[in-house]
Amino acid sequence: MTTSHVDTYLARIAPRLDAVRERIALAAARAHRSPQDITLVAVSKGHPPEAVVAAYHLGVRDFGENRVEEADPKIHRVRELLREAGQTDFPRWHLIGHIQSRKAARAIGPYALIHSVDRLKIARRLNRFARDMGRVQPILLEVNISGEESKFGFSPEEVVEAVAEIATLEFLRIQGLMTMAPLVEDPEEVRPVFAGLRTLRDELASIYPELQWHHLSMGMTQDFEVAIEEGATIVRIGTAIFGPRE
Ligand SMILES: *Cc1c(COP(=O)(O)O)cnc(C)c1O
Repeated sequence: MTTSHVDTYLARIAPRLDAVRERIALAAARAHRSPQDITLVAVSKGHPPEAVVAAYHLGVRDFGENRVEEADPKIHRVRELLREAGQTDFPRWHLIGHIQSRKAARAIGPYALIHSVDRLKIARRLNRFARDMGRVQPILLEVNISGEESKFGFSPEEVVEAVAEIATLEFLRIQGLMTMAPLVEDPEEVRPVFAGLRTLRDELASIYPELQWHHLSMGMTQDFEVAIEEGATIVRIGTAIFGPRE
């Protein structure tokens, strides 16, 4: 039953994934970059564990979720399904959504990378829980480049100051920046948002050269090609791989 379920997703996802990989390669080529320098995070929110396992069988190893309460049981179930299939190379999970303070404890443990550290208060809390759990948690700082009110994230001005404190939090490790661009018809319109995140990263790297600034997590289904042209090292793609969410 479960296996046939996975097979259904395999048939649905395989051609979509091929197309996404092809588009990533073409965008990378336009920017004279290697596609290997771009990590595809398949955003599985709104899709079941069997869809994740299907994408895994097609070679995807990085998955993104935006709510810990949806992710926890899914991560657990995916492990079970992969074990049953004799797999031991478990996927890396990425937390990409806003973290409520009272759920911060659940954000430490399962995630290879938290993309959505969007305020000082949550950084302090995550640091405390990471310390309690004996972990060092890799993070990205989410920046609201577009300035849209509906978006989470540090403002570009705030983040420069916030880093001075976050850098002292012993159980968090900054790896770079993340942003979400506004929803627009033509992705060219959001090119300045992605270029802005890259410029900010370069600025932070010159102010804080002792820290790691490698990653730029930017680009989703609607705009990932422009993001890659502007330097994305991680793209977060859901719909183009898994289809529409329920
Ligand atoms: C849902 C989500 C994505 C993926 O969106 P798609 O348009 O389905 O590719 C990427 N990043 C974040 C933060 C998300 O919440």
